Amino acid sequence: MSLLENQVAVVTGAGRGIGRAIALALAEAGADVACVSRTEANSRAAADEVESLGRRAWALAVDVGDAKAVDAAAADLLKETEGVHILVNNAGVTRDGLLMRMKEEDWDTVLDTNLKGAFLFTKALTRNFMKLRTGRIINVASVVGLMGNAGQANYAASKAGLVGFTKSVAKELASRSVTANVIAPGFIDTDMTSGLKEETREMARSHIPLGAFGQPSDIAAAAVFLAGPGAGYITGQVLTVDGGMVM
Ligand code: NAP
Repeated sequence: MSLLENQVAVVTGAGRGIGRAIALALAEAGADVACVSRTEANSRAAADEVESLGRRAWALAVDVGDAKAVDAAAADLLKETEGVHILVNNAGVTRDGLLMRMKEEDWDTVLDTNLKGAFLFTKALTRNFMKLRTGRIINVASVVGLMGNAGQANYAASKAGLVGFTKSVAKELASRSVTANVIAPGFIDTDMTSGLKEETREMARSHIPLGAFGQPSDIAAAAVFLAGPGAGYITGQVLTVDGGMVM
């Protein structure tokens, strides 16, 4: 029997990059996966790939910052399944700029997606977790939430907020054997980082002891571990997956 056989997972931001890798890795480990993404095409493509691995999949084109859309998607999914066992809040965006020039809408977009999105999906599935008396919540933050970063006050605040959110959820749900943990990636090769100038990439690389950007599969491996039976006694923790940048 596969590690995550008969488990249902929800992965937000599954359309591309890290989320897509997490969705596929969970499917490879045996889980059925609901692929949440902003765009229909990307959530569908991810769900098709999950299905090609022989697992059930759902393509959910949902803006994670939209409470009504999140509640409706979660309710539909719960009708079609025996419950959701794994939630990976991974959807995220950047709207970088120095604080002095940061627009209020750039603050709101980043906080709504990265932090409120995790709150909304976690809340929508909490009753389900309590009923199941088991569950794994995995929130994808960033090392920037631990260190801060000039030009990313909005992004750093959202990711630091996820850490406090996760620890609180971990304490609230521990009595039902539900764990909540954070993965804090460093620099990972995805669309989010492909736009960086070569000199910025070089500068970033020079701060990474392992000497290279990570791959989405590095984060997916950590997510499969936190979702699996070997991590049942780990909760409220931040696992940095960053080539040693933060230690
Ligand atoms: P990415 O390649 O830009 O993909 C982001 C995904 O999030 C896409 O699938 C996108 O949907 C989805 N998304 C964005 N806004 C959404 C919304 N409002 N509702 C639903 N889905 C939404 O990013 P990534 O690099 O894989 O990053 C994934 C997570 O890791 C993010 O939380 C990011 O902050 C974090 N992270 C990344 C790095 C890095 O170096 N890449 C480092 C640290 C942390 P569509 O595909 O439909 O557009």
